[in-house]
Amino acid sequence: MLRKADFCASNALMNRMLSRFALIFSTMLPVAAIAQDAPAEAPKWSIAIHGGAGTMDRSKMTDQQQADYKAALQAALDAGSSVLRGGGTAMAAVEAAIVIMEDDPKFNAGRGAVFTWDGKNELDAAVMDGRTRAAGAVTGVTTVRHPILLADAVMKDGRHVFLSGAGAEEFAQEHGLQMEPPEWFATPARKESLDRLKAEQLTAYDVDHKYGTVGAVALDQQGHVAAGTSTGGLTGKRWGRIGDSPIIGAGTYADDRACAVSATGAGEYFIKVGVAHEICARIRLLGDAPQVAADAVMQEVADLGGDGGVIVVTPSGEAVFSFNTQGMYRGRADSSGTSEVAIFN
Ligand code: ASP
Repeated sequence: MLRKADFCASNALMNRMLSRFALIFSTMLPVAAIAQDAPAEAPKWSIAIHGGAGTMDRSKMTDQQQADYKAALQAALDAGSSVLRGGGTAMAAVEAAIVIMEDDPKFNAGRGAVFTWDGKNELDAAVMDGRTRAAGAVTGVTTVRHPILLADAVMKDGRHVFLSGAGAEEFAQEHGLQMEPPEWFATPARKESLDRLKAEQLTAYDVDHKYGTVGAVALDQQGHVAAGTSTGGLTGKRWGRIGDSPIIGAGTYADDRACAVSATGAGEYFIKVGVAHEICARIRLLGDAPQVAADAVMQEVADLGGDGGVIVVTPSGEAVFSFNTQGMYRGRADSSGTSEVAIFN
């Protein structure tokens, strides 16, 4: 027969057992829920590229033109991916993707760059390494086949970050970069845009409708991010105008603590907002998700009256796009098997 004391004791025992069971059960529940909802493993490497943003009217682009752009983007994406897959650095992947687009006259970088008011092709580029925040940039070069590699040489040299014009060309020659005569960069389509801009008194935005700058951001298997951007700037640019692309913090930025960013668009607005650094700062200091940070900063650009887009890659392998134009030539790939290119919104 149970005595009251025994009853109380067994009650207490039962209560202890119940609460222990409840504790075990409650700690198991979230484990089970987490196991079920567990996100796929973070990608070991990741890359995103762009070939400019702007007014891209689906009806005005033939199927062939769309296919040509997509094939060009895929070739650049594949070149960058193959570096990362093989264990190469994010910086090497960024440059591998960009040199292909610099040689492709469809893009406003290297060969096929837009014309200045004075009928020249003046090239700008920048790179930044998220490991150390080492950076290199060049502006106003006219004879360097791959301005992105010149930016890289400036970064590796390390004495300065930003070189311009004749001095940058002299540096390129001293460092054995591949040089071409200025005419090598000129294409009839870009010349026609300049002629039309002058004849019809248009702005660069009216005549181009799209920007065509190229850029890449990447995360390597060692966990480091890098960014690069290369451009001819805007058609009809004058007076030594420099856009955002080669300005560290505006069109290009990389920091292992946050992300890597490359931008394209109406450079003056991207400089005013400090777009690339601002996106990284929001991620680092506010803890914004990358898409939230990119959208918020692009909204600031839009509020000031500018348009364009950005690509962002984070140290955890997320790759996001944000643009306030009808389209952006873009692509992304990662170690989980993603490999996609797109043009329209
Ligand atoms: N952002 C570049 C500039 O203003 C233009 C572009 O993105 O195509 O020079």
